[in-house]
Amino acid sequence: MSFFRQELERLRASGLHRSLRLVEGAQQGRVVVDGREVLLLCSNNYLGLAAHPALQEASVTAVRGFGTGSGAARLVSGNMTLHRQLEERLARFKGTESALLFNSGYTANLGIISALAGRGDSIYSDRLNHASIVDGAILSRAKLLRYQHGDMDGLERLLRSNRGKGRQLIVTDGVFSMDGDLAPLRELVALKREYGALLVVDDAHGTAVLGDGGRGSAEFCGVSAEVDVHMGTLGKGLGSFGAYAACSAEMAEYLQNMARSFIFSTSLPPAVLAASIAAVELVSSPEGRDLRRRLEANTRLFAGMLLESGFDTLGSTTQIVPILVGEARMTMEFSARLLDAGLFVQGIRPPTVPAGRCRLRCTVMATHEAGELVAAAEKITAIGRELGVI
Ligand SMILES: *Cc1c(COP(=O)(O)O)cnc(C)c1O
Repeated sequence: MSFFRQELERLRASGLHRSLRLVEGAQQGRVVVDGREVLLLCSNNYLGLAAHPALQEASVTAVRGFGTGSGAARLVSGNMTLHRQLEERLARFKGTESALLFNSGYTANLGIISALAGRGDSIYSDRLNHASIVDGAILSRAKLLRYQHGDMDGLERLLRSNRGKGRQLIVTDGVFSMDGDLAPLRELVALKREYGALLVVDDAHGTAVLGDGGRGSAEFCGVSAEVDVHMGTLGKGLGSFGAYAACSAEMAEYLQNMARSFIFSTSLPPAVLAASIAAVELVSSPEGRDLRRRLEANTRLFAGMLLESGFDTLGSTTQIVPILVGEARMTMEFSARLLDAGLFVQGIRPPTVPAGRCRLRCTVMATHEAGELVAAAEKITAIGRELGVI
């Protein structure tokens, strides 16, 4: 047996093998998965913008006017008027001097973190931070200091013992991607001030969703002006693709010169840029506010029912509603049973979450009907009882 086959068999035997499900048609609240219609409960397209007519129209118009590709990296010949327009719109949206686009959230974290810290510096990272933050920290060659989830005393101990040792960088998810809880941003701001650290907030799941204007977790916590780099993604709540760093003009200029994932990659294409501009516009409009209200109401309804049934939803307060199961095989069986029952919910296993903390990660959308969510919560409860999860 080849090494690769052996590894694949090992993954299968431990319940950690991964395979792809096929979604037919556009990303809506209901989709056809592997040939049958189901309720989509695992997308990050929280407001339903990924299939919104305004974004589609903007994309099509941009293709007609600007073509399909940018042809080069930004610093070569790939800096188009739409890049500038989107960056200006994002800076206005986030209330920062500047914004710099990246090709995805993953590459944004790689580029930002490895540009801000290097050998001899320290990076402080919540244990539940996204994999791309960990990978950025490894790439930077700085010392990576991980603190227990949300443990501000633990973080302060680390900051104290590393005081004066190079540049200090605190990086956190704004909304934790697999738990759905919020980072204690006020406390993080107090600590970053006291210890002279920089604070980077990855708001992949707060952008478009949290705060009065949909500006994210920092707006929600009232600390927007205190965050040094607001990293956000365009492919989740905003329904498009790509990512950005919103920050001071000086910081944007620094990243433009130092972030290797920005420098050495072909820039985002016109269709994507135009959809993103339309998305920011929409999120800032009364329609955006209305969608956020519906998402909030849907979340309250769905999470409330699951809690009432006795599921452990890990303290989530957002549209990400995890159901803790524990072991990998049981989690995947739960997920398979739900798909049979017409609900598409992915099981989450290591290395995405710690061993023994496997879960179903349900996500609610603004475009779900209340009746659909009630029926879904009832089915999840019935199957959870059968499997002995509750
Ligand atoms: C999804 C995600 C990313 C990666 O963003 P992409 O645009 O999908 O590459 C980064 N950070 C967090 C917290 C995420 O959830």
